[in-house]
Amino acid sequence: MFRERGRDTPFRDAMKSPYAAAQQGRFIDMRHALTAFMAAVSLSSIASAQNAPDSAAQPLTATASMPAQSAIAADVAKDLDGMMALYRDLHASPELSGQEVNTAAKLAKRLKAMKFDVSEKVGGTGVVAVMKNGNGPVLLIRADMDGLPVVEQTGLDFASKVRTKTPEGVETGVMHACGHDTHMTAFIETAKLLVARKDEWKGTLVMILQPAEEVGKGARAMLEDGLYNRFPRPTHAIAFHDAANLEAGTIGYTPGYALANVDSIDIRVRGLGGHGAYPQTTKDPIVLGSRIVTSLQTLVSREQDPQDPAVVTVGSFQAGAKHNIIPDEALLLLTVRSYSDETRAKLIEGIKRISRGEAIAAGVPEDKMPLITVKDEFTPSTYNPPEFAEEMAGVLKGNFADGRVVKTPAAMGGEDFGRFYRADKSIKSFIFWVGGVPADKMAEAKANGAALPSLHSPFWAPQADKVVSTASEAMTVLALDILKKN
Ligand SMILES: [Zn+2]
Ligand SMILES: [Zn+2]
Repeated sequence: MFRERGRDTPFRDAMKSPYAAAQQGRFIDMRHALTAFMAAVSLSSIASAQNAPDSAAQPLTATASMPAQSAIAADVAKDLDGMMALYRDLHASPELSGQEVNTAAKLAKRLKAMKFDVSEKVGGTGVVAVMKNGNGPVLLIRADMDGLPVVEQTGLDFASKVRTKTPEGVETGVMHACGHDTHMTAFIETAKLLVARKDEWKGTLVMILQPAEEVGKGARAMLEDGLYNRFPRPTHAIAFHDAANLEAGTIGYTPGYALANVDSIDIRVRGLGGHGAYPQTTKDPIVLGSRIVTSLQTLVSREQDPQDPAVVTVGSFQAGAKHNIIPDEALLLLTVRSYSDETRAKLIEGIKRISRGEAIAAGVPEDKMPLITVKDEFTPSTYNPPEFAEEMAGVLKGNFADGRVVKTPAAMGGEDFGRFYRADKSIKSFIFWVGGVPADKMAEAKANGAALPSLHSPFWAPQADKVVSTASEAMTVLALDILKKN
């Protein structure tokens, strides 16, 4: 099928990364790829003429009878050079959460040039681009803009060399290690494709560039800054995230809970310090903290329904400064993950109960009970209303070749896109995944069990041309379905 030709689009970025060698075989000139693609499209349009939707052919397309879907794929192929130039530029110049000033300005300019009504500085550095095109649904399309405090080690030609200071004053490199650069690139391409097809849809586009996803603040900041009051209120919302566990060009979708509630919790364990040789004069917060860590394991293993996944991880245990001093305090830093609000509340209550219970068992006085802080940087779980998710998956399966759209299990990661749905549960909301792992790397990992770089890894180098072209096509196809005329 012609859409399969998309798999052969060239991976043009000369890479020194671990993927580079594997990619060299596919390094072909873009014109050759496009020629092959167009030839395939022509053949396919004959083959599939009887199934062709009634939409008009697009300007680029070679045949008047080409289905609208292949016209989108053809436009994406035509735009690939420009998309990759934007991608490389964004990749080389990442900005940390909440500091996406240049990124936002750069992309706002492009949206203005496309005649969107653009508002900047929404919820910090957020951008809202509105296009009204008659009566119909209001579709929110979201991309996030922030990079991470990671020193890039991909070896890509256009790897980030940016260095900056975190808000905590730590000197760091900055990298688009979560692939938000692919999100922004596909977002701009989707905007372009939809503007070019204004006569094929009706309704309102609310395209938003969101800051500070990685710290769980951006979606909330935009909502609090009047996203649903100052701008048309969405009836539908879509987004995608690149995936480090799916083959490049594969689309994953998860009906229902897709990503978890993510809580950060501090436990300040208080004791009574003293000399290490005279423990009887102290209340040792290290021993108490250790008991708390061990007992916390029973929250998931003994109290939680095994069918309702949860995670309680103590990621940091800080206490003491010297061999022979029992400190006054110990500090435990936890990440806590769940799906439902009820389970989240139960886990937080359990952490408080166990901490207090262990302190009582250790004989700590009432005024020195552990202090529990549930941090403000909470990211709520991401929920894809199942009926709508299946509907959207059906649209994607109708567009992409067999096997490219797969149902994937929920994950314990977090993503604040879920806030847009939580703020108004009448919204039909859908986030999906677009794989970025080169096929040969995926096969190699399956064969020998080698670990692939995950999102946030300094080695994460998605096969960006496939991510961006697949995502652009997918977002456009979904948007045209949601905003369809009739
Ligand atoms: Zn991330
Ligand atoms: Zn991300």
